[in-house]
Amino acid sequence: MTTIGVLALQGAFIEHVHALERLGITAREVRLPRDLDGLDGLIMPGGESTTIGKLMVQYGLDEPIRERARAGFPIWGTCAGMILLAKDIGGLRQPLIGVMDIVVERNAFGRQLDSFEADLAIPVIGAEPFPTVFIRAPLIHAVHGDVAVLATLADGRIVAARQGNLLATSFHPELTSDDRLHRYFVDEIVVPVQSIEGSRTAA
Ligand code: GLN
Repeated sequence: MTTIGVLALQGAFIEHVHALERLGITAREVRLPRDLDGLDGLIMPGGESTTIGKLMVQYGLDEPIRERARAGFPIWGTCAGMILLAKDIGGLRQPLIGVMDIVVERNAFGRQLDSFEADLAIPVIGAEPFPTVFIRAPLIHAVHGDVAVLATLADGRIVAARQGNLLATSFHPELTSDDRLHRYFVDEIVVPVQSIEGSRTAA
């Protein structure tokens, strides 16, 4: 059985729990290091990245999550969660997991565009545009190494990317009823890692 954790320190975590449950996947709220035991993947939600980062450090979650991320454990960061995944946030000083080769700018959309919605093409989840919600959202300025760009705005700015076991989205897919990105995370990232782990155990 697949169990996905949702970091539940602050922000929009309950909506991710509900999206996973709609897909028939067991979701577990993660607040302490022991909550990570036995998980097949983790979602880090949107919220306030400084607050989530500080609480992660306070509860001793940052290092165990970082270690797992480096070992191939599937992690999806949405919005603030994406900021936490980035290795580079332009020199701002705040606690991060810092494992993904993306350069992220916090609050990248000025006041006028603080929050907006857009239908975006995300080819890896199908031809139908995906309804996205951006809330004081970060942008991916640049990607390095083996990071693949999954979606851009009409002007080319990057809003979704993947690097192996790591998935990052600027927007909030959990605030829509379209569950295709949750399905993508589970089917294309979590399940393949599970099968590699399974074959290692069997060998
Ligand atoms: N503006 C927030 C930050 O910088 C992110 C916003 C969000 O997660 N919706 O942490």
